Amino acid sequence: MTKKKEITSIKELLDKVKEYDDNIDNLNKIVHAFNFAKEKHYGKERLTGDDYIIHPLNVAAILTDIQADYITICSALLHDVKEECDVSSSQLNKEFGEEITSIVEGFTKINSLSFSSDNEAMISNHQKILVGLSEDVRVIFLKLADRLHNMRTLWVFDEKVQKATAKETLDILTPIANRLGINRIKSELEDLSLRYYKPDVYFQIVEKLNQTKNERDNSVLEMQNKVSELLTDYNIKHEIKGRAKSIYSIYKKLNKGKSFSEIYDLLALRIFVNTEQECYQVLGIIHSKFKPIPKRFKDYIAMPKTNMYQSLHTTVFGYCGYLFEIQIRTYEMDKVAENGIAAHWSYKEKGSVKAGLQNAMEQKLQFFRSIMELKNENIDDAEFVKSVQSDVFDDTIYVFTPKGDVIELPNGSTPIDFAYKVHSNVGDKMVGAIVNNNIVPLDYKLKDDDIVKINTNNNSFGPSKEWLNIAKTNQAKNKIRGFFNKLDKEEYLKNGEDNLNKELRKKKISNNEFFKTENFDKILKELKCSNLDELYINIGNGKFNPNQVINVIYNDNKTKEEIILDKVTKNDVTKLTIKDDIIVKGIDQIKINIASCCKPIPNDKIIGYITKGYGITVHRSICPNINNLTERIIDVKWNEQTNKKYPTNIVIHTDDDKNILMDIIAKTSNSDITIQSINSNNNLYDLVVLVTNDEKLNKFMNDLKLINNVTSVERTIK
Ligand code: MN
Repeated sequence: MTKKKEITSIKELLDKVKEYDDNIDNLNKIVHAFNFAKEKHYGKERLTGDDYIIHPLNVAAILTDIQADYITICSALLHDVKEECDVSSSQLNKEFGEEITSIVEGFTKINSLSFSSDNEAMISNHQKILVGLSEDVRVIFLKLADRLHNMRTLWVFDEKVQKATAKETLDILTPIANRLGINRIKSELEDLSLRYYKPDVYFQIVEKLNQTKNERDNSVLEMQNKVSELLTDYNIKHEIKGRAKSIYSIYKKLNKGKSFSEIYDLLALRIFVNTEQECYQVLGIIHSKFKPIPKRFKDYIAMPKTNMYQSLHTTVFGYCGYLFEIQIRTYEMDKVAENGIAAHWSYKEKGSVKAGLQNAMEQKLQFFRSIMELKNENIDDAEFVKSVQSDVFDDTIYVFTPKGDVIELPNGSTPIDFAYKVHSNVGDKMVGAIVNNNIVPLDYKLKDDDIVKINTNNNSFGPSKEWLNIAKTNQAKNKIRGFFNKLDKEEYLKNGEDNLNKELRKKKISNNEFFKTENFDKILKELKCSNLDELYINIGNGKFNPNQVINVIYNDNKTKEEIILDKVTKNDVTKLTIKDDIIVKGIDQIKINIASCCKPIPNDKIIGYITKGYGITVHRSICPNINNLTERIIDVKWNEQTNKKYPTNIVIHTDDDKNILMDIIAKTSNSDITIQSINSNNNLYDLVVLVTNDEKLNKFMNDLKLINNVTSVERTIK
């Protein structure tokens, strides 16, 4: 990393600005901002021993590297006057106008938040908050530049501060810089962070690079000359630059398990041409002369990255057996690659620069899309997708708890959403809400910066069903529904008891007789219930049919269908010997069980769950019972040779009371399927079938759908 030279005078800053903006009014405003800040910070020093003004001056200089507009440059010069010198917003407004004031205010607001966490979700949340609080993208540019200058002078702090700052930068700020495509700032921030976060790794890489520098430099130069000659032969105007890989990018590759030599043997070139067409032409010429590595070619011109990056990438066997990573781009593309969204400053267009940077909504969308991508790898539950979508499509608001914690909610949220976001107990026990010291109704729409206090009462009965219509977030709605599901249990209990008694009366069996102690124990054991309540609930919610319960004791009272069913079903299925049917990579002698919840059959996608001291239980990979249990998961697969039958659950729904048991059984006759058991209850048939593979199961299920009155046939997971 080359050491960046600090500037020390306003003249140096103006020279940098003049390279892209020579409007005299703008330059005068920059001078005015400088003088104002210098006076306010007068007499103060930074820990480095420099006059304080050196800091804002260099933050502004960093922003000239991405050709920031004069408003941003002025804001940079003034960025610390509110916090450090108590300058009021109205004073700033009077001196510099609304736009600069609002950027300085925005900066002060996000700068007072401290973002550090070891928790992935919190980190992504912090990124969202930072972006969400910054109405103007220039606030984020300022934050990044401020951090960059602070990192350049981080040596002045002790190790603890250095490490914490470096970690926060890597967690929160560099991903945002990357998504905005500001490569210039991102890559310096990354290298500096690594230097303080993992100094030993950093210096090890630097040393390795130095050892091989000469040889690599020579090879790059040779290759550069060869390619240049070639392109000149084809009359293509071009420039070629050897490209230094950032230390952080090497560190990341090492982390991915690449060896030092693999990385250091990889050299890099970047070719600049004038037109897009020439990019492709250059690519063709290079490929005709140097053998490309298959699958390493990427066309980011036709398919730009979301941060607008465009280039062609290819890797070829080049000079002296070195591999060369070559990037081909136009000068215009290079500007976007280095400055990202900041390349869209537009000084020529009419209207404010803010408008030139695309309108605020569009920017926000772009950011949220980008932030979303940060989480892409982890999107697994629909809830997350939904909440992110509402972040993107609705607006997001940020409100505070009385303690000052930020709570992020979609626009239109109410105190109910707030309460459930804080904790489900808070929601369930809520009796009222106070916003900014005023009592508000529960359907009050929260606004940015509201301070929300929820009043709770432990004797509260719970949420009202009406809240489902008031709440905005799915999170709150789900929790309210969950509360009522619990209540429903009580209803199931009552219905279950009633249904069983009704059926007993119908069969003229006395209650006392049926529930003799020995019978009672047998029923609970057979149906795997721990007590009478559980039995009733399961009858009430339809898991058991009352007859099924009665049959545990009075096996003979069977209907005609049930007798036939007994004949066709095989309850005495020989115990499955699954040895050799499931292959566990690298392990031979291990006990394997088939999970009874999702009952996988051959060809199903499966996954193993290691039970300590017990062996491996094989689940379907979609089984919700193993969700989140990543630690003990092991890869397993079916032995393709197996042709044994395995049990699995299917459920048939009908829209008529007519008994279709016989039809179901008939469908098994020409389809290599054995029915192990059927339970029917009103319009529902619960089957366990034995089947050799998923293809046969699918065919059978399709056959079942052809039966009159059948509305659906599904595989189920208990
Ligand atoms: Mn600062």
